[in-house]
Amino acid sequence: MTKTMRCYCINHYNEPLVEMKMALPKPKAEEVLIKVQAAGVCHSDLHIWEGGYDLGGGEFLSLKARGATLPHTLGHETAGVVVSMGPNATGVEVGESYLVYPWIGCGNCSTCISGNENLCTSGRPLGVLEPGGYAEYMLVPKPKYLLALNGLDPAIAAPFACSGLTTYSALKKLGNDIATHFTVIVGAGGLGLMCVSILRAMGGKGAIVVDIDKKKRDAALAAGAHAAIDGNADNVAELLIQAAEGAPRSVIDFVGSPETTKLGFNILVKGGKLVVVGLYGGSVSLPIALIPVRGVSIIGNLVGNLEELTELMELVHSGKVPFIPITKQALSEANDVLTRLKEGRVIGRTILIPE
Ligand SMILES: [Zn+2]
Ligand SMILES: [Zn+2]
Repeated sequence: MTKTMRCYCINHYNEPLVEMKMALPKPKAEEVLIKVQAAGVCHSDLHIWEGGYDLGGGEFLSLKARGATLPHTLGHETAGVVVSMGPNATGVEVGESYLVYPWIGCGNCSTCISGNENLCTSGRPLGVLEPGGYAEYMLVPKPKYLLALNGLDPAIAAPFACSGLTTYSALKKLGNDIATHFTVIVGAGGLGLMCVSILRAMGGKGAIVVDIDKKKRDAALAAGAHAAIDGNADNVAELLIQAAEGAPRSVIDFVGSPETTKLGFNILVKGGKLVVVGLYGGSVSLPIALIPVRGVSIIGNLVGNLEELTELMELVHSGKVPFIPITKQALSEANDVLTRLKEGRVIGRTILIPE
């Protein structure tokens, strides 16, 4: 009799996740099978649930066009314990817990060879195009994508694979400016809060957070933000510049809506950088001449590479990264958690734990 495992899957886009029984995968070659201990619920799971991203102007970036098939198991923030591995897998131990690097590329193109598998155009990220961690077990293609937890709680570790990595990679794109100037962080959801913490751990001067939700602003202040500004204020740009003690050099936009991108662009000092992370969507019109005249950079950030996740986990293990608030819920409540996230009713991060 074939062994089975429970998964929570998208059977039809935009419809509730369904519990399914799938055959337990048998690891071949370098593959490693983990028993899931923690699966973080990420905002981008909502986009995958919807089948893609709104690009504005009626354009939609479809995951189906990128080779997504249904049913699909969500979950790209996964930590688990190794239970078995293929004959060629080395470097990991059965019974040890690991964090999974999910942003896996083809491994052969120049982008992958340069170490940026997360930017591979024919990548097969786990939980996005390949089965992810909303399941009892998950297959990882190679041991190199597993980072030892060394005793760290899997539920604490899981969000570092996406929200942690994304914020770390976004902060690295700002170079030394984070140490000498305040960094403006737009949006204090899961990513924004994580960014406040990681910025501190990296020796950043401080975070000026902007959000329309008072609860989220309070959470940002509790996480150590230098100031938190109401995004609904009439003079929000002025308030941000005041709090940052001058037009900011660095803005990270974790919302990515037309309003926030425009706000970030408008407040930058000459030579400043706007890193866009959020996938809210839509489109924005910017005065092109101001890009060269003000010498500003608009940089997109899509998660991060394996080296960055390795660096980040070293920072985490050094004890410098304060943990963001997490809520543990049973894996069987995956659908409920996604629904609440969609309604904007989640503070911090929810982690699904297989019961
Ligand atoms: Zn994510
Ligand atoms: Zn590639």
